[in-house]
Amino acid sequence: MTSFPARARRVRDSALSPQRRLYALRECALHCAPYGFRATWHHLVVAARIPRRLTDDLDALVRAADELQRTRDVVLHRAQEYAALRRREKAAGMRTPRTLSPWNSWGWSRIAYCPDPEHHPTEPLATVVQAVLDRHDAGINPDRHCLACGTERRRPGHACPTCGVHPDGPAAPWRASQAEERWQQVWHRELDDRPTPVP
Ligand SMILES: [Zn+2]
Repeated sequence: MTSFPARARRVRDSALSPQRRLYALRECALHCAPYGFRATWHHLVVAARIPRRLTDDLDALVRAADELQRTRDVVLHRAQEYAALRRREKAAGMRTPRTLSPWNSWGWSRIAYCPDPEHHPTEPLATVVQAVLDRHDAGINPDRHCLACGTERRRPGHACPTCGVHPDGPAAPWRASQAEERWQQVWHRELDDRPTPVP
């Protein structure tokens, strides 16, 4: 995770070309992707209103980097608390952790993985991650309730119908026709159906 601050600085660096700043944002999103990279990217494009032509609103890239930074801070804080807990447990002779952390995965994507890139929670990323970690700490069973939104799970093995988070993480199966074509539209920010931002 050490390269995140350096990448975020590149996103904010107005001396760099818009494309290089976009790629730096992509690197940030690879390091901090609670929904998985594609759904996290879709969220950022919509929430930060990243335009198709970057020069129309370069501040959008900064808004997206700021959101990722806030999200990363939430996870790092919990990760440090967890590390301290494990040190105490090990000192007490407990070699196997009592609880597993949900963030020990690539890009932390196990926290709230969304197999469908366009179906994910709509709140700020940091709010969702905080809610997941709080429910995790409270001992909520992810097979019974969605840790992201609290919806009761009626169909085990399926993504949450309310928010799209799948309890199985990146191993979750997902198939959709035109998925790759649709992803290309997301990546190029060609979202004709994005909601009108609230002023
Ligand atoms: Zn949910």
